[in-house]
Amino acid sequence: INPVFDALPTTVFETMSRLARVHGAINLGQGFPDDPGPEDVRERGARALRDGWNQYPPMMGLPALREAVAAHYARHQGLVLDPETEVMVTSGATEALAGALLALIEPGDEVVLFAPMYDAYLPLVRRAGGVPRIVALQPPAFRLDEAALAEAFGARTRVVVLNNPLNPSATLFAPEDLDLLARYCQRFDVTALCDEVWEHVVFDGARHRPLMALPGMRERTVKIGSAGKIFSLTGWKVGFVMADARLMRGLAKAHQFLTFTTPPNLQEAVAYGLGKPAPWFEAMRAGYARSRDRLADGLRGLGFTVLPARATWFLNLDVANLGYADDAAFCEALVTRHGVAAIPVSAFYPDAAVRNIVRLCFAKDDATLDAALDRMSGLA
Ligand code: PMP
Ligand code: GLN
Repeated sequence: INPVFDALPTTVFETMSRLARVHGAINLGQGFPDDPGPEDVRERGARALRDGWNQYPPMMGLPALREAVAAHYARHQGLVLDPETEVMVTSGATEALAGALLALIEPGDEVVLFAPMYDAYLPLVRRAGGVPRIVALQPPAFRLDEAALAEAFGARTRVVVLNNPLNPSATLFAPEDLDLLARYCQRFDVTALCDEVWEHVVFDGARHRPLMALPGMRERTVKIGSAGKIFSLTGWKVGFVMADARLMRGLAKAHQFLTFTTPPNLQEAVAYGLGKPAPWFEAMRAGYARSRDRLADGLRGLGFTVLPARATWFLNLDVANLGYADDAAFCEALVTRHGVAAIPVSAFYPDAAVRNIVRLCFAKDDATLDAALDRMSGLA
């Protein structure tokens, strides 16, 4: 085993889901919803499977899905993408991330990353030979600050990875922060790798703004999306990556030897789903916003300090004053003694720079959220 991977712990999501099973806990850790996903989309996938969509589809993805992706992002985000040369289907956002990092980085290149970061990023960067330059963002606002960017960016910077909306903080980057980052990308001739899997799960009238749409960013941005988040179907692992044709040539080279393709019946169903009308997306958001409010109000009622959650399926608690050594100790007690699994946000900070925040997934039935609240009473 190579030393980078040999030293890796098992991902916190798997670890917490296992602990939840062992302790019979309510699993508000790993992010997956109780919502079964839209019935018509699932039916479409089942029908495609029965109808014989079971052989290798084209490497870049089913033409119908690539066209649906281009049309979807034109309608929702004003992006103009050529489905032939600028859209590729991947097996989840995770494959897109791995492929993009392999395709973009040469050993020794520097990669700017923002913590908290999704736990796949750093091992993938390191294994691709990238040298990470990590900027730690601070709760509760998780803002970019120019001094930190000035220190992190330099002549050797090749890529910056941006997750917006940001998991686990449940924040959206402010327009000024995106403008600032776009300026740095252009000043240092850097490619932005944008993990925007949460782009549709935004609340309170907020609008997601893709970095790719900013002036000067179209040719230097790789944008990643995931049907898992859009349709609450996390196990499907259908992702898409968008980039200008020059970058896409490299991304395709990585994809052809990682997975080559993605199940065609699922692609067919996602192509159909992406065409859903705007009210469907509004209703999906409203449903999750209601669950967020139910859990947030309940936790505040119990005396917890709840951070604002403007996007994603996650809500964060500040556990600094609850008498535990840190977030990990709180989560350990919560799952073993109180029967609720959560995620310590320090797992998203490579040097555990922030250790007082705990992430809970609210994408659950009301009864599950209420039962979790019951179990958490008396803890704050
Ligand atoms: N990036 C982020 C920020 C995520 O939160 C997730 C999953 N929760 C992924 C990537 C992985 O997406 P997929 O399941 O499509 O691989
Ligand atoms: N992205 C999901 C989360 O943040 C988990 C994905 C996984 O389990 N790898 O909870």
